[in-house]
Parts: sequence; C-alpha cells; structure tokens
Amino acid sequence: MNISILTLFPKMFDGFLSESIIGRAISNKYVNIELFNIRDEAGNKHGRVDDSPYGGGAGMLMQAPPLKRSLVASGWSSGQRVVYMSPRGKVLTHKMAQAFSKEEDLYIVCGHYEGVDQRFIDKYVTDEISIGDYVLTGGELPAMVFIDSVVRLIDGVLGTSESLIDESHSNGLLEYPQYTRPPEFEGMKVPDVLLSGHHENIAKWREEKSLEITRKIRPDLL
Ligand code: SAH
Repeated sequence: MNISILTLFPKMFDGFLSESIIGRAISNKYVNIELFNIRDEAGNKHGRVDDSPYGGGAGMLMQAPPLKRSLVASGWSSGQRVVYMSPRGKVLTHKMAQAFSKEEDLYIVCGHYEGVDQRFIDKYVTDEISIGDYVLTGGELPAMVFIDSVVRLIDGVLGTSESLIDESHSNGLLEYPQYTRPPEFEGMKVPDVLLSGHHENIAKWREEKSLEITRKIRPDLL
C-alpha cells in the first residue's frame, strides 16, 4: 500500500512513522508512506497557503490551488482515493478501516486553521473522514489515527493474525478483560477460570464477559 500525506506540518509525523508497529510495517515494506508539505506548492515567496473566508468570519482557510498542486506533486492520478480528515466526515469505524486496508493508493489531506476551501473538497476529495465528534486544531492527529487503524489490518503487519481475531469491534463486541503475571496484584486475583487450562470454559467465560461489557458500556453495538 502507498500512502501520501499532504500536510503543512510534516514534522508532526516523525515519531509516528519511525516507532513501534507502524515503523516496522514501513521498514518491512508492507506500506510506503510519503509526506508532502503543502507549503512547497504555495506558489509565492512568502509560502502563504491560506486566506480569510469570503463572507467574513473568524480564522483562515486553506486555499484550493496549493492543495491541488500538492496533490498532483504527490503523484495522484484521477480515480485514486483522496481522504480529507474532517470533523464533518463520516465517523471512522473498524469496518471502514478494514475496507481501506485493501486499497493500493491512498492520499490523505490534513486541514488546519478553519479548514479548506469547499471547491477543493467538491472536486478532489472522495472520502471525508472524522475521528469523532469533537474538533481538533488540525488533521495531522486524525490522519495518524486513520493510518494506524488501517495499516495494522494489512495482512502480515501484526505478528500473529491471532491478535486480530478477538479484538474489540472485530466481531461487533468489546473485548473481554485480560490479565498477565503476577497472579495477584494489590489483593486482586486473576479469575480462576483463566488459570484452569480448560479451553472450553475459558472461551465461554470470555464470550460472556464480552457481552456483559458491551451491554454495560456500548449497548448501541448490540
Ligand atoms: N471549521 C471546521 C473545523 C476546522 S478544524 C469545522 O467547523 O468543521 C481544522 C482541521 O482539523 C480540519 O480541517 C480537519 O482537517 C482537522 N480536524 C479537526 N477535527 C477533526 C476530527 N474530529 N476528525 C478529523 N479531522 C479533524
């Protein structure tokens, strides 16, 4: 998979792209991620890429022409998916992440300030995606959240495919509680059934706990 990120703040991605599972996915060539600084396509010597909104109102809006030039510079060709991270977008789910993990080329646009000129969205954006019903200062963190959710689902990226099977949201339920050594922590013991070695009972217990937790915290998922 090839992912191109269009941003005004490429340095925000440094740690994300070099550490842990995403860093490893890149060095093992499961995914290729490139950063494009929209300011490189400002087209003026001040590097200016934003302006005040027509009709008035607070803040600055990112202009359409530099965004378009940056998209072209990143290698985009017509028909390829362009995601704009936006609080007005469809809220990201596990299902959406799964669908995107099958794509070959993705272009991700990070907004900043008050957002971007609507004409860029109308003409070039194929998917508007939100990471939740709140507003952040920029699309960089949302892009990292989106990329993380997608890349970990690419076959082979996680060590064992097992780690995906029982996870929260993968089967429509939240995950059951998990425990590891020591067997007792501040007076709290690991549930006996998990130490029993009885696989059937363990599976049953986990299923019950999954349901119980989902009913309690996210009944909307049931
Ligand atoms: N004025 C806009 C918000 C701009 S926030 C509005 O009311 O809709 C600045 C940028 O941050 C946006 O362009 C977008 O790229 C990003 N952003 C903010 N909140 C987000 C969210 N919940 N999900 C995805 N992107 C978000």
